[in-house]
Amino acid sequence: MSKKLKGKNRNKSRKKMRLNTLHKKETYKKKLISRILKWDNLILKTKCSIVNKDENIENILKDMGRILYYSGGVGIAANQIGITKNIILVLIDKKKPTFLINPEIVFKSEDEIIDSRESCLSYPGIIGIIKRYKHIIVEYEDENREFHKQKFSEFNSIVISHEISHILTGECDLYKIWKEQIEENNKKSSLSAKIENNENDI
Ligand SMILES: [Zn+2]
Repeated sequence: MSKKLKGKNRNKSRKKMRLNTLHKKETYKKKLISRILKWDNLILKTKCSIVNKDENIENILKDMGRILYYSGGVGIAANQIGITKNIILVLIDKKKPTFLINPEIVFKSEDEIIDSRESCLSYPGIIGIIKRYKHIIVEYEDENREFHKQKFSEFNSIVISHEISHILTGECDLYKIWKEQIEENNKKSSLSAKIENNENDI
């Protein structure tokens, strides 16, 4: 076999290897993203429990980090990936991944409210305007289980409040909006069926 052909074959197999790696990466990414629970899944509606001091949560944190990274979201709560523990991960200032373990909001700026346009990884395509506190103070532990009491404002307050509602109330605001939209659509379709069938409520 000529040198030239050998080179060609080598390039071909390199290309094949590159494609294989890309394919594997894509499958891995899809597999991780598919772990995000959606819609009416009962775990999404479960109030989560406190993480004990000596609990090993290393793998949970790793999974949350990877899943949030590949999903392109700005925050995720543990129960969104099936773990009913009080852990959230948010991108502070849209970029710094920050774990908040056992978070608790200890102050809300009752007199400073903002309208926030939000979406959620568990209710894809649903968008809602939600009232949020402009400033909050949160007590939490970081991934090294060190205690913090920290003030968060604007975007950071919004994303932390959103994720905390997942774990503490077991209900995301986008879930309520989704359900309202379904009800609204049902009303509309039953009305149009009535019009079509010439029914009249008199
Ligand atoms: Zn949500």
